[in-house]
Parts: sequence; structure tokens; C-alpha cells
Amino acid sequence: MVKVTLIRGDGIGPEIAEAARRCIDATGAKIEWDVQEAGVDVMATAGTPLPEATLESVRRNGVALKAPITTPVGTGFRSVNVHLRQIFELYACVRPCKSYQGVRSRYDNIDLVIVRENTEDLYAGIEFEKGKAETLELIEWLNAHSSRKIGPNTGVSIKPISVEGTTRIVKYAFEYARKNGRKKVTSVHKANIMKYSDGLWLEISRNVARQYADIEFEDRIVDNMCMQLVQKPELYDVIVLPNLYGDILSDLCAGLVGGLGVAPGANIGNKGAIFEATHGSAPKYKGLNKVNPVALILSGVLMLRHLEMNDQADRLEKAVADVIAEGKSVTYDMKPERDDPTAVGTKEMADAIIAKMR
Ligand code: NAD
Repeated sequence: MVKVTLIRGDGIGPEIAEAARRCIDATGAKIEWDVQEAGVDVMATAGTPLPEATLESVRRNGVALKAPITTPVGTGFRSVNVHLRQIFELYACVRPCKSYQGVRSRYDNIDLVIVRENTEDLYAGIEFEKGKAETLELIEWLNAHSSRKIGPNTGVSIKPISVEGTTRIVKYAFEYARKNGRKKVTSVHKANIMKYSDGLWLEISRNVARQYADIEFEDRIVDNMCMQLVQKPELYDVIVLPNLYGDILSDLCAGLVGGLGVAPGANIGNKGAIFEATHGSAPKYKGLNKVNPVALILSGVLMLRHLEMNDQADRLEKAVADVIAEGKSVTYDMKPERDDPTAVGTKEMADAIIAKMR
């Protein structure tokens, strides 16, 4: 038995976590679930949205399947999702975007993988608020050292891109390509404008690419990449990006293959791996047995592959693909009309997927 932490999350989290757990169990995978809480619901009793017991469980098991967690805007706590990635140094966010027959989408032949750097860039959290003493001090220093001047009524976010951070993520992308029989890695940047951050990213990407002669390498400027993905997505395979572009293009690519309901993800580091859907906790649907469980179930497929349970992963992915292709036992978002009365609930869609594996 392999022990895996199951973080139930909040909002729609507990419903889709249960659906995913049942589907994974139905593959016959030898997994013992260590069920843990995180998010707004546990905040009231534990006094924190990320209890120590949950952290300890992930530390112990090294692998977690995590349902979405709300980040309250303005007040409340910092993002538990970001915090978990930082604590466990989950530097690679991997989001496969694949067309499944039966999903309503403008494209039908997409099979690409986004590899997003998860720790640096404008998301590093190094920010200076307009008007604060330290911000004014920073602006004064910058004005003294740069030909471009910044006015005092300015907020500043810092964009660090390091040799180490870039080397590790680009290597990860190439290793992923090799391991998964992929042919090409595309590195995305805006090196023509940000010469010392994205320029460094591009230089390191090229250096790393030289160590992988068996995998094709190319680079693209991020704006051009967006247009290319909309016009010719079938040309791309593995795409490696700094944090911000990775975040934006993940959603773009999720849109290419039919939306958030079918977009899985993995956050991988040397100390652990946390698998989660791209979508959030959709609080307005909480407790309604309404939302699509597929993104978290496909995250479970990625987890099974990570655990080298490839037969079980293949069975589950095929069962999901079959249910989607039939289009009968699917949730509202997969029906031609959103108010289609034949749409089934979260639990019933999971039941249909399980039935395909019998
Ligand atoms: P969201 O992804 O939760 O929902 C946006 C809309 O997408 C929903 O209203 C719904 O219409 C649709 N949707 C999402 N998931 C769906 C599903 N499984 N099936 C069918 N439809 C689905 O995004 P949001 O409303 O911007 O964020 C809500 C909360 O989730 C916020 O607090 C945000 O911070 C958090 N969030 C968490 C994660 C995470 O846990 N990793 C990721 C993104 C957002």
C-alpha cells in the first residue's frame, strides 16, 4: 500500500475529492488515503487554514491529491495553495492540455503540456506598496542607478529570475519530454524587452537544450506564442515558461481543450508532489453535487503515473474519456446547453466513470 494525503479543501472541494478518491480506488490502485483538511471550513476549528497535521501528512507521504481551496480577497489568510507550493518547494507546475472527444471545444487535436516555473518571477511576492517608506527608499535608489525615473506615487513588484531556478525548471521540462516520449520543448519569454530577467531565462534555456540533443528545442516570444497557440496549437508539444506567463498560458490552453472542468495539474518538487485541478473552489456551487469532477480525477491520473501505477492510470483515463465521448452521464458544463435537464451530478458522473472500469 502507498500512503497518499487527500486534502479535501473547501467550496466544491470535498465533493470532487470524494469523487476522485472513489474513481482512483476503482482502478485497483493500492493506495491508503490519509484524509486531511485545509481551507476556510477548518479555519473555524483549527484557527488556521493549513493545520500542522495536514502539513505533517504531506511531509510524511510526499504525495498529495488536493481539492481546491478558497483564497479570501482582501481580508483573511494568504493563499494556502501558494503556501503549500513554497513550503514543499514545488518548483514545477505541470499542466497537460489534451483534447478528449466529446468535449465542446474549437479544436480537436491538441496534446500539449505546460511546464510552469512555480517559485520566482513576479509571483515571488517581493512587492513594495505605493507611499510606504521602504518603497520611497527603493524608488530613490533606483532613480539614482537608472536612466529611467520612477515617480513617488508608484507601487513596485520585483521580477527575480535566477540561473538556478531557470536551470532546474528547463531541465525538468526536458526530462519530462524524454520520459514521456515527447519530441519538442518550446521555451517562452519576452527577452527582447526584459533583457536581464527573460534574457537570462532564454540564455539558460539554450544552454540546457544543448544537453538534450534527442529533443528538439525552440523559443518563442510570449505574445507571438499566444497567437500561435490560437492559430496552430497542434505544432506544440512541451512548453516551458516563467511563472507569470505560465499562469496565463495555462488558462489559455485549458480553454483550447474545453475549459477548467477538464484541466488537471501537478506541482512537483524534490520534497514532494501535490496534484490538483487548475480550477478553484467555485464557492457558489458548494454542496450542490453539480460541478465536474474530471479535472481532479485527471489530476489523479497524473498522480498514478507519478507513483508508476501506469496500468491503473491508463484504465482511469480511458474510463473518463469514454464517459465524456458518450456525453450522457456528464455534468452541466459538458452538455450543449448549460440548463440541459439530462446533466448528471458530480457523484453520478463519478459513478459512470467507475462503471466503465468494471
Ligand atoms: P473557480 O475556478 O473556482 O470558478 C470559476 C467558475 O468556473 C465557476 O464559477 C464555475 O462556473 C466554473 N468552474 C470551476 N470549476 C468547475 C468545475 N469543476 N465544474 C464546472 N464548472 C467549474 O475560480 P474563482 O471563482 O476565480 O475562484 C474561487 C476561489 O478558488 C478563489 O478563492 C480562488 O482564490 C480559489 N482558487 C483556488 C485554486 C486552488 O485551489 N489551486 C485555484 C484557483 C482559484
